[in-house]
Amino acid sequence: MVMIVSSLRGKLLLGDFSEGTSHMPELPEVETMVRGLRPALGGMTLREVEVLDEFLLVGHTAREFERLSQGAKVDRVDRRGKWVVIALGDRRGLIVIQPRMTGGFWLVPPDRPEHIRLILRTDGPRESIWFCDNRRLGKIAWYPSPEEAEEAFARSHGPDALEISRQELSARLERTSRGIKPTLMDQKVLAGIGNIYADEILFRSRIHPSRPASKLSNAEIDRLHAAIPAVLAEAIAAEGSSFDAGYRTVLGLEGGFLAGNAMYGRGGQPCPNCGDPIEKTKIAGLSGRPTHFCARCQPLNPPRRTNKR
Ligand SMILES: [Zn+2]
Repeated sequence: MVMIVSSLRGKLLLGDFSEGTSHMPELPEVETMVRGLRPALGGMTLREVEVLDEFLLVGHTAREFERLSQGAKVDRVDRRGKWVVIALGDRRGLIVIQPRMTGGFWLVPPDRPEHIRLILRTDGPRESIWFCDNRRLGKIAWYPSPEEAEEAFARSHGPDALEISRQELSARLERTSRGIKPTLMDQKVLAGIGNIYADEILFRSRIHPSRPASKLSNAEIDRLHAAIPAVLAEAIAAEGSSFDAGYRTVLGLEGGFLAGNAMYGRGGQPCPNCGDPIEKTKIAGLSGRPTHFCARCQPLNPPRRTNKR
């Protein structure tokens, strides 16, 4: 069991993050990476591109990938779901990097150089940008055009969690009788939410994680649709969540979200709303990852009055 002590505004908080390390980073972590990469890469020329681990490459060999991207100027750095998209100028295409579970970018020399998989060397002040991936589950790809990258994204992803409309969310939830938590985490339903933020979003929405997605009331969908961007924005402001050796910002710092969050990693602690102990449990459809919720604030059978559509 790993106990992590985080300090925020002088307050010491304890959390148990011994399980559920999969499916990191989520949308806020990738958005934080993109914001960190932008000033270092935007407008710079990729003087040299070096693939150290061909295993992560999709569709091209290391030499092809290097030839396709080397010498190109970076137009913009964007996020698409949990993808980092580096758009190259002069129709040189796009580099797409999926950090998946343990991938991350470093603007400072990485603390574990043996995990470096790709190096981008620019003509800018941050000369080297390293992409590291401990478990080698990340993906690195090159697409000739935004349309082709978008097509590849759309094959496996729903709308971005920060952009989905209330109507679209409602329509997508109606199509499945699975529990709401695994549904929120299904990237084909909406892109960007994983285990940590699903727990926070459902607590904020006062919805039990096992409620069938198709049975939510209009009021519940309203609360859910409001909670998704609110929780994600707070997490982006805190630069994401770090609970083990995994996710760090591009400067090698820990994200601060879990120092002040409500649910994730807080089994047995008092619910910040009602004071009852937070339950840590496992629910169907989540392959062993833990779920945290408050049985009083998120009842499995809410009063009928609030459950009408
Ligand atoms: Zn509660």
